[in-house]
Amino acid sequence: MILRTLILLALALSTQVRAQSDEEPTVSVTPIKDGLFLLQGRGGNVVASEGEDGMLLVDDDYPQYQPAYLQAVKALGADGVRFIVNTHWHGDHTGGNAAWGESGSMILAHDNVRQRLSTRQDIKAFNRMVEAAPISAWPLVTFADSLALHVNGETVEVQHFPQGHTDGDSMVFFVEANVVHTGDHYFKDRFPFVDIGSGGSVGGLIDNIRALLSRVDYYTVIVPGHGDLANQEDLARFYNMLVETREEVRSMQARGMDLAAMQAAGLDAKWDSWGSGFINAERWISFIATSPR
Ligand SMILES: [Zn+2]
Repeated sequence: MILRTLILLALALSTQVRAQSDEEPTVSVTPIKDGLFLLQGRGGNVVASEGEDGMLLVDDDYPQYQPAYLQAVKALGADGVRFIVNTHWHGDHTGGNAAWGESGSMILAHDNVRQRLSTRQDIKAFNRMVEAAPISAWPLVTFADSLALHVNGETVEVQHFPQGHTDGDSMVFFVEANVVHTGDHYFKDRFPFVDIGSGGSVGGLIDNIRALLSRVDYYTVIVPGHGDLANQEDLARFYNMLVETREEVRSMQARGMDLAAMQAAGLDAKWDSWGSGFINAERWISFIATSPR
């Protein structure tokens, strides 16, 4: 009887441990090339550059994932993170800032990222208020247009792309390696989120993706804000979707349809799979219809 109780107790405990470890944040590490790695937890994609000048991260996911990123960073041979570049202010890309900032990492981002992280924000598309981040999360170095870092044998160009996903988005070009982190301007094979409440716009996003297309080539590795690694052809497919779906919405508007009628009518069936992620067709139509440009 006692033995049976002990066995049951042991089984119960092992199940509990397993349940806890299932929920524990983990980070996967995928080599890209030349000391660059794709790190993925739950939020936005993270690119790590490792080398003699120290670890650089582009974005840092949600706060509860920071310890798992620290483990991944250590597994890559670094003690900590020297530089962090934020592509934009959203919490699934800057959540680790507070802990990294406290441990001495230098955080860099566009002026508007610091402005938005340091004040209360209203994400109108999702009716969600976001409180100001702790001071240690605020970027220490900000810029208006662009910034270059020269680390680990790589020229890292951080370029602001205005009024796209938000008003503070940068894309990060690893010039010699021919790798770019697009931030949330690009979700691979999915409709994008345009945060109009944070100064984003559909027209700006389309202009910015066209500009990005002119900078990439057949060999460029494109790291989207969310989703798998992509290439020039994938990005061109995304651009065509943006232009064609905006045309569809504009022609419905020209026929006098209001937002509800357009959402009921929907987009061409060939875009169905693009709406299976975070942003469905109804929301994508509403972004196009309500965008300031
Ligand atoms: Zn975002």
